[in-house]
Amino acid sequence: MKQKPKQPRIRCPYCGREAVLRRASYVHKEKALEEYLYVCSGYPQCDSYVGVHTGTKTPRGSLADRNLRRKRTQAHRLFDAIWKNGILSRKDAYRWMQDTFCLSSEQAHIGQFSDYRCDCLMTECRKVLKNNHIKIAC
Ligand SMILES: [Zn+2]
Repeated sequence: MKQKPKQPRIRCPYCGREAVLRRASYVHKEKALEEYLYVCSGYPQCDSYVGVHTGTKTPRGSLADRNLRRKRTQAHRLFDAIWKNGILSRKDAYRWMQDTFCLSSEQAHIGQFSDYRCDCLMTECRKVLKNNHIKIAC
């Protein structure tokens, strides 16, 4: 009889290999902030991984390489500036993101965003910040 897998099967979008759940220290050494990461089984040749939601083994989004990880962080910083500066509430900021990109609430997570969508989000966030006279260095 087949057993139901406890962890979701995740494939690396870059090389097609399966991702494995590992302690964050496997990648980050002593700087580990998150408990677990889904890491491409080709790591470190394939530098691709994603964190989990705090206290769970649920991935935050899709696996990302260095470039996309950096871009998602940057996009998040710009997006967060919208609600941190009180232009919108956090809830309304996510709703604005959904409306702007025609996303469902499940899709409206920067952790799921592609390189291209990060670029689009950053452009839209910069417009909102600029129209509200808020300067942010990125
Ligand atoms: Zn890979």
